[in-house]
Amino acid sequence: MALIVQKYGGSSVADIESVKRVARRIIETKKKGNDVAVVVSAMGDTTDELIDQATAIDSNPPAREMDMLMTAGERISMSLLAMAIHAQGEKAHSFTGQQAGFLTDTRYGAAHIRDVKPERVANALKAGEVGIVAGFQGINNLGDATTLGRGGSDTSAVALAVALKADVCEIYTDVDGVFTADPRIVPTARRIPSISYEAMMEMAASGSKVLALRCVEYAQRFSMPIHVRSSFSHRPGTLVLSEKASLGSIPNM
Ligand code: ADP
Ligand code: ASP
Ligand code: MG
Repeated sequence: MALIVQKYGGSSVADIESVKRVARRIIETKKKGNDVAVVVSAMGDTTDELIDQATAIDSNPPAREMDMLMTAGERISMSLLAMAIHAQGEKAHSFTGQQAGFLTDTRYGAAHIRDVKPERVANALKAGEVGIVAGFQGINNLGDATTLGRGGSDTSAVALAVALKADVCEIYTDVDGVFTADPRIVPTARRIPSISYEAMMEMAASGSKVLALRCVEYAQRFSMPIHVRSSFSHRPGTLVLSEKASLGSIPNM
């Protein structure tokens, strides 16, 4: 039995049908005998829409209020996903970044994770439930909500995987893995079956948004394997790991 952290990006939970589809996939992983903790992003373009609403009021809104607003997107998806899992007969419990123990510094909009103390998530797993955590958010030492920067749910997922001592962090998105170039722009791009942290950081730094740069840095620091896959298929995806790691040790392939 493995402990798996799965992250579903906004493109995987864009509407209610997708939320139900993702719930089925989570339950499938659990029924194979794994413990599953999930990090979820805001649905579809929710974060962009929230930013548009704020800037329609003030072109330079207060940073603290922006983070209060933006953390709302992931609260919607986490609770709907927990409901979808319940509706399909399994138990799930959703947690905000604060409830999941994500402690950050005070840089609103670009906060860094200082520590993750996910006791409540671990207890949910122990009780046989799926733990669902709102990505992209934490709490600072003033008790205020913070966000990690755009695409930050990837970093939340790796940080949760490290704190829970998971066997793998699976990042589900809308393409079949990491490609030699953006497959939506370059149709001849090829999927990369496995890639080192260093090479992946270079791709992330040069603008490939499939994985956030800080997520790959965090994974390298703690040697957490990342498996990038599509939530729309069961194809093999891309493994991001250290050159020394053995492919045979990754569960749920
Ligand atoms: P999510 O909503 O799952 O977080 P993102 O939109 O942040 O998804 O990232 C996935 C997108 O990254 C893909 O739809 C793809 O267009 C884009 N992308 C850019 N470069 C690459 C690459 N080298 N390999 C795969 N996808 C890439
Ligand atoms: N919802 C946030 C964003 O759109 C975080 C994420 O999706 O990773 O940037
Ligand atoms: Mg993303």
